Amino acid sequence: MDFLTWKLFPVLTLLASVALFLHFRDSSKISWDDGCSLLKRSRYWIKSDQIVTPGGIVAGAVEVKDGLIVSVVEAEDWTGSPNRAEVIDFGEAVVMPGLIDAHAHLDDPGRADWEGFPSGTKAAAAGGITTLIDMPLNSDPSTTSVETLAMKVEAAKNNIYVNVGFWGGLVPENAHNLTALEALLEAGVLGLKSFMCPSGIDDFPMTTAAHIKAGVSVLAKYRRPLLVHAEIEQRSDGYPEVDDEDARSYSTYLKTRPASWEEAAIRELLSVGVDTVVGGAAEGAHIHVVHLADATSSLDLIKEAKRLGHSITVETCPHYLAFSAEEIKDGDTRFKCAPPIRDAENREKLWEALMEGNMDMLSSDHSPTLPELKRLNDGNFLRAWGGISSLQFVLPVTWTYGRSRGVTFKQLASWWSEKPAKLAGLPLKGAIASGRHADILVWDPSAEFDLDDRHPVHLKHPSISAYMGKRLAGKVIATFVRGNLVYRDGKHAPAACGTQILA
Ligand SMILES: [Zn+2]
Repeated sequence: MDFLTWKLFPVLTLLASVALFLHFRDSSKISWDDGCSLLKRSRYWIKSDQIVTPGGIVAGAVEVKDGLIVSVVEAEDWTGSPNRAEVIDFGEAVVMPGLIDAHAHLDDPGRADWEGFPSGTKAAAAGGITTLIDMPLNSDPSTTSVETLAMKVEAAKNNIYVNVGFWGGLVPENAHNLTALEALLEAGVLGLKSFMCPSGIDDFPMTTAAHIKAGVSVLAKYRRPLLVHAEIEQRSDGYPEVDDEDARSYSTYLKTRPASWEEAAIRELLSVGVDTVVGGAAEGAHIHVVHLADATSSLDLIKEAKRLGHSITVETCPHYLAFSAEEIKDGDTRFKCAPPIRDAENREKLWEALMEGNMDMLSSDHSPTLPELKRLNDGNFLRAWGGISSLQFVLPVTWTYGRSRGVTFKQLASWWSEKPAKLAGLPLKGAIASGRHADILVWDPSAEFDLDDRHPVHLKHPSISAYMGKRLAGKVIATFVRGNLVYRDGKHAPAACGTQILA
């Protein structure tokens, strides 16, 4: 360093700092420099011939500004934008509200090697899901207290590509502890989840009807839902002894969890549900039956409860609509879940219930694990982890198996966006309408693809998914989350800028 440079060094350093400061101050204002979006604009128009709105399907344009939908204009009224760069024309592709998956297990913190927030929400974005509500179990610890919710929030920080909310757990330990339950709800869980049978997770024990009754009475005050895994073990004499060969047979597993388990649970649940009627002891509370598999007497009981004025809804999952017990090959434990996938006749009844509006909505129940725990090697259905890995594929699966049954885009938007938004208490989500969040999905219903090794799958363990090897219709083109273009044509925005949703 010569003398002059040495004399000037502090001045140069100061100038460099000022320049850096100005640069960063500026870039903090400009959202596209942060890597949150593949689109470097905060105001733009999404144009399409098929925009699914609450009023019907329209051709036109959706105006987005600062993360919100500010207008939806029909083609004949649209004068266009003076700046052509502000218009993204998707032609005939379908523009729908982004999917809201109200039932996913991302297993983070504690079991992020099963899935985790980064891969799970990347897969969600690639699948057109703009919001998912994470289940309180399969992470370690389970989310049953303020402290464990704080661990979830910390794990999700800067690690989510879509919006993520959280359900809390209703377990025996907190069910009769008003202070603990209220604190958990005050801390922001969107509602509670409980099991009427063993959950398979040690720190998430099952609840009785008395626990559920206590939980529901607290939820009434907060007007938030209780989600229930409705199966009650009916056997009193233990499992019959089966050899390893029998354990590889799907029918062996199916017999261990008959429809009567679901029926028994729902019957008991309705003894609490009666409190949710107008003027009832828990008016304001809501009961939501997750992943119903039995479309016979269990569904009839729920229909009857609705008729009686209970505040109750029910969901099923794509795997119960896509598959049937008859076609599951021995040893193919990718198909193990609880309650189990039942026969083809039952599957048709589930479709009927959906089409007639007796089934309210859909969710993924994405519940992955490590390939070794799925026991793909020995195919033992009784020992394998129960859970279907599906998150990235729920839209094409629903469409592939639904279109021949007459499913419409409006129904897809209702089952996957509008109803889940209502369940989770998210009034700004679930529809393409002015004033709502710009959580938007663009997809091509006619494009087909083979879900094989060449297909980019963002889930942590693609091999455990029951959908691998299938040919599906419905390709996600673009996913917008709060106005950020987080996914387009196979590419993700580099930064994980999803919003955490706390009630
Ligand atoms: Zn689940």
